[in-house]
Amino acid sequence: SRIQMEGKVALVTGGAQGIGKAIVRGLMEKGASVALIDIAVEKGEEYKNVLDKEFGSDKSLFIKCDVTKKDQLKDAFQKTVERFGKLHIVINNAGINNEKNWEKTINVNLTGMIRGTHLGLKYMRTQNGGEGGLILNMSSLAGIMPVAHQPVYTASKFGIIGFTRAIAAASDVGQYGVRINTICPGFVNTDLLQTIDKEENMGEYFQYRDNIKAMMDQYGIHEPTSVVQGVIDLIENENLNGAVMKITVSAGIHYEEYGPQYQPKM
Ligand code: NAD
Repeated sequence: SRIQMEGKVALVTGGAQGIGKAIVRGLMEKGASVALIDIAVEKGEEYKNVLDKEFGSDKSLFIKCDVTKKDQLKDAFQKTVERFGKLHIVINNAGINNEKNWEKTINVNLTGMIRGTHLGLKYMRTQNGGEGGLILNMSSLAGIMPVAHQPVYTASKFGIIGFTRAIAAASDVGQYGVRINTICPGFVNTDLLQTIDKEENMGEYFQYRDNIKAMMDQYGIHEPTSVVQGVIDLIENENLNGAVMKITVSAGIHYEEYGPQYQPKM
């Protein structure tokens, strides 16, 4: 059966631009109220103004927050629940591509995602008085295949998949009432993709940029809106937990299949 998104409350990290921005709009078009969480204050506030005109000012909330800061993220979840009364959907989407400052990449992409999942469970688990819900962690095709010019980004995205599949199994065994899935888009036309061309982001791997550009030519580049349909499918399809959805230009939306020996034992 399919979940109705009308009246649901969602929190989206990295919602001020790129893929997150497109997801925010997609959820609001389906009738959800959305808190967008981002470090980019100007972009976040500007977007909130646009959303106010379109959907009404009570439908969204912008919260300035760095997902690597434990207390800020905790406060952002709390403010969202205070404002909208409940929480049903968490999209852990904020991410960066920086091989030079690789610890920051792990902090944002992996630690931020883990913390966002824990906080989502805190508010949504039926055992805690929540109504159940869905957590979606943004991985990448770099979470499935090694990418030569982004070893740490690759590690963070592999980590997201492992963490999400394991905690989805925990949710199943522990009957949290929360489904937890990952989504792995191929190349998407956002500012993040431009970082490939920046030495300050890529460090020593900058020299391999022709290699990744050849991969872009081979796999194609999506617009952020193509990721939104996948997100909606993962939210609405009640049967999916621990799913690893891939989105490529050539194959569209499809799923990574794991053999029975790689399925969690229940
Ligand atoms: P983007 O740079 O356009 O947007 C990322 C957003 O996250 C920005 O609004 C930024 O301000 C915010 N952000 C960054 N660090 C933050 C922090 N510490 N706290 C709060 N917000 C923070 O990038 P995007 O392409 O839209 O990326 C979104 C997600 O999609 C990332 O997790 C990325 O790894 C993933 N992804 C991107 C691609 C791609 O090709 N662009 C492909 C697959 C997966």
